[in-house]
Amino acid sequence: MSVQPSPSDPSADNNAGSTDFVRTIVNEDNRTGKHAGRVHTRFPPEPNGYLHIGHAKSICLNFGIARDYGGLCNLRFDDTNPSKEDVEYVDSIMEDVRWLGFDWGDRLYYASNYFQQIYEWAVQLIKAGKAYVCDLTADQVRQTRGTLTEPGANSPYRDRSIQENLDLFERMKAGEFPDGSRTLRAKIDMSSPNLNLRDPVMYRILRATHHRTGDQWCIYPTYDFTHGQCDSIERITHSICTLEFENHRPLYDWYIRELGIFAPQQIEFARLNLTYTVMSKRFLLQLVKDGLVSGWDDPRMPTLCGVRRRGYTPEALRDFCALIGVSKVDSTVDIALLEHCLRTDLNRRTNRVMGVLRPLKLIVDNYPEGQVERMEAINNPEDPQAGTRMVPFSRELYIEQDDFREVPPKKYFRMTPGQEVRLRYAYLVRCTHVVNDPATGEPLEVHCTYDPATRGGNTPDGRKVKGTIHWVSASEALPVEVRLYDYLFTKPNPYDVPEGVDFRANMNPNSLERLTRCFVEPSLKGAAPGSRFQFERLGYFCVDPDSTPNRLVFNRTVSLVDTWAKIQKKG
Ligand code: ATP
Ligand code: MG
Repeated sequence: MSVQPSPSDPSADNNAGSTDFVRTIVNEDNRTGKHAGRVHTRFPPEPNGYLHIGHAKSICLNFGIARDYGGLCNLRFDDTNPSKEDVEYVDSIMEDVRWLGFDWGDRLYYASNYFQQIYEWAVQLIKAGKAYVCDLTADQVRQTRGTLTEPGANSPYRDRSIQENLDLFERMKAGEFPDGSRTLRAKIDMSSPNLNLRDPVMYRILRATHHRTGDQWCIYPTYDFTHGQCDSIERITHSICTLEFENHRPLYDWYIRELGIFAPQQIEFARLNLTYTVMSKRFLLQLVKDGLVSGWDDPRMPTLCGVRRRGYTPEALRDFCALIGVSKVDSTVDIALLEHCLRTDLNRRTNRVMGVLRPLKLIVDNYPEGQVERMEAINNPEDPQAGTRMVPFSRELYIEQDDFREVPPKKYFRMTPGQEVRLRYAYLVRCTHVVNDPATGEPLEVHCTYDPATRGGNTPDGRKVKGTIHWVSASEALPVEVRLYDYLFTKPNPYDVPEGVDFRANMNPNSLERLTRCFVEPSLKGAAPGSRFQFERLGYFCVDPDSTPNRLVFNRTVSLVDTWAKIQKKG
């Protein structure tokens, strides 16, 4: 697999030259004139949770195909289950699709817009003797359904007359019967090898206030009796969904055929799974409800609002989706590949700054007290347009605790007594001694002297210094909070658990580390939430909305270590 970054413009053809199997089908349909060259897709989320990275794959595929073929892509909410759905989710989904860089124009639809039409279609099937009202409870329906090896049993209500069915269905709609007491079922075949065809439920009685239709309905169509017809109403040509719906296709096709309406073609692809990641709204909701994360937008969540808060870019997600492609085979993608796409993009676009996460005082003993010099620093070596900035240098600095060792390990080129190191963009300094805390033995402050002839970190005599470390001026630096993240789960496959426990048993207790005494260079003052930076040597960081005018909070988006690039190099 190539890991060359692809173009980041959403209008660009990220899949140029690619022939994934879905596009192969579209090409063939265009060649044979199946839909007269028309390409119309849709992204059909159920508003029962926030979108996640898996949805991004589906969004990029549906909107991407429409874009590539000069077609259209609708946004349609599959809102047939009012007990789990909410406008909060509707709003967040629209925000997230837009953030990813896609636009549905004026084609925003809701399955609930079509409830009247779907109801009339149910009546049509009853009149054709293809549907009946069944008085079995949900449990009884399940029990009489049979198994993969045994046929199901016909419902005792299966042979009701059309007249009785019409009457009962009408009264179901009118609210005469309690919730769950009756259903409308399709009359197909209780011995079909496909369980979905064993007289599936089309309508259920449910008194729940719908976020759009209010209390207008007390019967709701099932997803299976809704989805295909919605596609048909919108004259979707290629109805792209994930593999688990493959054996629902015969049922969708049956409804479409019996109703005699426009037939979209359903195409199934493998859903995206990522290592160390749970990607199902049901489980993500559980994390939110249990308070195991701070909300849907917790920066550790794989939701689009979570990764956005963390500092991910839409470009990185689109590049990732283009890179993984689509296939018919379920697989799990290494999260290192996603992080690789992220680093590649952030490397191009973020300015470099200096920040110290775990501060240790460094005192330059021979530097004049009270003096402040402004050192010129390059903003982004990848982008000459980004220019330079001035960073204050003074006698008292902070360096990273890790960049000092009183007793250095082998090949330690950073600060240690007697060794010279470069302070990035400033001077060469030589450590003279350290003052340790008498109680703990931990270093309190490190002392050094600087060589005034090395301003800017240059060595006029050409002498070699192996280590370069970052720093901030103690008096000018901004105190900030930094949040470091690890994966939410300790296992590549979070679902790999012993009997009797669920995926939560694999939660990583150390997925969040809050560092409340960090310092960054003063150029960051007033940085707006959402702004992204590379902290030299430490990774990419993004300003969190928890920031106040007086105190910035940063999320580490991703560290600098690109394990995927390493794998590629070796391979
Ligand atoms: P979840 O299991 O997370 O609840 P879902 O499939 O129930 O997902 P929907 O709102 O029905 O969520 O999904 C909208 C669209 O996104 C569907 O076409 C679905 O197939 C697709 N989709 C959902 N999860 C993934 C995934 N992991 N990879 C690719 N596509 C996905
Ligand atoms: Mg679903």
